[in-house]
Amino acid sequence: MSQSLPFNSSIISDSFTPLPPETGGDNTAGFWAVLQGSSLLVPAGSVQSLLPGGPLPAGIVPETESLRIGLWQGKTLRAVRIAPDAAVPAEYEALPFQGPDVRLDDALATIAGRAAQILHWERRSRFCSRCGGQLSRMSASWGKRCPSCGDEHFPHIHPCIIVLVRRGAELLLIRNASWNPGRFSLVAGFLDFGESLEECVRREVREEAGIEVTNIRYVGSQCWPFPSQQMIGFLAEYAGGEIRPDGVEVVEADWFHEDALPMSPGGKRSIARWIITTYGKSGEMGIPS
Ligand SMILES: [Zn+2]
Repeated sequence: MSQSLPFNSSIISDSFTPLPPETGGDNTAGFWAVLQGSSLLVPAGSVQSLLPGGPLPAGIVPETESLRIGLWQGKTLRAVRIAPDAAVPAEYEALPFQGPDVRLDDALATIAGRAAQILHWERRSRFCSRCGGQLSRMSASWGKRCPSCGDEHFPHIHPCIIVLVRRGAELLLIRNASWNPGRFSLVAGFLDFGESLEECVRREVREEAGIEVTNIRYVGSQCWPFPSQQMIGFLAEYAGGEIRPDGVEVVEADWFHEDALPMSPGGKRSIARWIITTYGKSGEMGIPS
């Protein structure tokens, strides 16, 4: 089930209760999600991943107001961000929640992702995009309201499709221009104006690889808080055309035999990896032929 993917709420449903935002209040108890870039601060060398508890640890200087985002193990969880170059106190270490380093367990990566997505929204929702006025927090909501023009603004979450295209025993993988040589993943892209998700799948495969697909089926989705995407996963079958990468966004695209895929398509926590692991083999779990 895609629900079990990191960054989706199910991963932390036993330990985390989301709550509406609250600033101020008692800052001396509960837990802290302290973000630095795409890393989360945890006690150094802890065998089991833990969040800092009690007052905000000495030596940590947030660049954002502390914000309650929910309850973690029954206690208030607050999120703050520190500067990318801020010194981290010796008792703590910053572990990445994005990328190949997976020392942070999935639950804490998920908490960090949620905190990051929220703090991104907070940073981007200070002013009204209609009139430029300063926005106010709406009660019991992550929404903001503009006292000047009355507009209401809600968190921006961007839908993206991601699709595994199969031709017999071969899978379509592409290399984005910004990725290192040898790194491949699935075709993916943002939903455009006026599109259904299936139309977006067809367009993205056509644009990135130059081929046509059919039999498009939804398989699962994942919150992707980098900074705020919703990845919507599909399977599709090759329907025609010759592979022709656009040469700009996509520099390589090819068919790979399902038993001979290049190294690690997609990050370990990504829905790309999950789709390939779950549906990459023809047969029982694969796409019925
Ligand atoms: Zn306004």
